Amino acid sequence: MDITKFLEREPVLKEVAEKKETVWINKKKKTGEEVWKNFPFDENDIKDAEDRLKRFAPLLMEYFDDTKATNGIIESPLKKIPNMEKILKEKTSLEGNLYLKMDSHLAVAGSIKARGGIYEVLYHAEKLAMDSGMLKEDDDYRILASDKFRKFFSRYTIQVGSTGNLGLSIGISSATLGFKVIVHMSNDAKQWKKDLLRSKGAEVVEYDGDFTKAVELGRKKSDEDPNSYFVDDENSSTLFLGYAVAANRIKKQIEDQGIKVDKDNPAFFYLPCGVGGSPGGVSFGLKKVFGDNCHIFYIEPTHAPCMLIGMATGLNGDICVQDFGIDGKTEADGLAVGRPSGFVGKVMEPIISGIFTMNDNKLFDYMRDLNNSEDIKIEPSACSAFEGPIKLFEYEESKKYLEENNLLDVKENINHFAWATGGKLVPDEIMEKYLETYL
Ligand SMILES: *Cc1c(COP(=O)(O)O)cnc(C)c1O
Repeated sequence: MDITKFLEREPVLKEVAEKKETVWINKKKKTGEEVWKNFPFDENDIKDAEDRLKRFAPLLMEYFDDTKATNGIIESPLKKIPNMEKILKEKTSLEGNLYLKMDSHLAVAGSIKARGGIYEVLYHAEKLAMDSGMLKEDDDYRILASDKFRKFFSRYTIQVGSTGNLGLSIGISSATLGFKVIVHMSNDAKQWKKDLLRSKGAEVVEYDGDFTKAVELGRKKSDEDPNSYFVDDENSSTLFLGYAVAANRIKKQIEDQGIKVDKDNPAFFYLPCGVGGSPGGVSFGLKKVFGDNCHIFYIEPTHAPCMLIGMATGLNGDICVQDFGIDGKTEADGLAVGRPSGFVGKVMEPIISGIFTMNDNKLFDYMRDLNNSEDIKIEPSACSAFEGPIKLFEYEESKKYLEENNLLDVKENINHFAWATGGKLVPDEIMEKYLETYL
């Protein structure tokens, strides 16, 4: 593909092609009701997902002890991190208040994939059970743990392509419900994730290719079997809506903690981005809930900036980082994606403010800072979230964004929410190795 015309149209793409750290500001972002004109999803879609998750809550408590504390609702803490804020303020131009949304510690799967991934498995299980006439919406869903249902589910297979965490979430939840499950893993996937999945009864197929390849081959294998269902990370609106549920819940946490969000106290959210499903779904919800008072940025590795390239060229899923001569290789395994989702970029056009890219070495520095200051461990991919609030005040383009949105006068009031997307399931010895990694 000849990318010259894109480099002329969007100068920032030159820096991206050179794998330089940078920020892309989205000029197509809209405000007010304009955002929702011709938008493919609305609040009823979120409500539908919330209701479904409530129906399943008693069953989840039955199966997963770590969901008991939250009554079967898989949700993570929101935490003020003043010590991390202090450290970063000493080293950088950061202003405002810093919070951590700890999806790194979500029940069952220990990553943000515990939202979308498990939701899609439950959605599929419910549909199969209802279509067969065995389940009604007002039943107590704990009946799904009976031998009759487990035998029924065992006739079906669920398959997914993954760099790791989606595989864990789909694999663990599907196997627990009684499905056969096959996870197609890319070459970035860590050995411990494969081992953990196999120990839960999932079949793991390894490929020598990247995430895009794993998805493609998984989809093909699944399509050959009429009793198999493929969780399609590149195209699934079910995954997307599972993620969107996060927004009303964080809104309540924000209110409960007395954090103000309004024009003079804007909320900035920073989401690590791979294929785009998880940040996209969460962003849709956030925009519905906070409107123009929220500003949403994604972070991608300089070696895998697929969403940036997709959105900035307008080609979305029809372009990949390899077209830009970029290899897609990064220590942030959850973000090691070369081609973005086919639909998320388009849907995010009126919503997100921009995308930062960053080098891998800082992932480990942020990880050490967070561990030393707050005694919280999150995985390298998740640490990318901290790049946003820092660089917001450093790049000319992002400072211009603050200025144009009249936010320079209130910059001390900004509430920054770094979205920690994974970490709890990382084995201790591997976490220790990460903490000793200097690139
Ligand atoms: C999957 C993942 C992401 C990104 O989610 P996408 O839906 O692929 O964009 C970010 N962080 C971690 C830890 C992940 O596992």
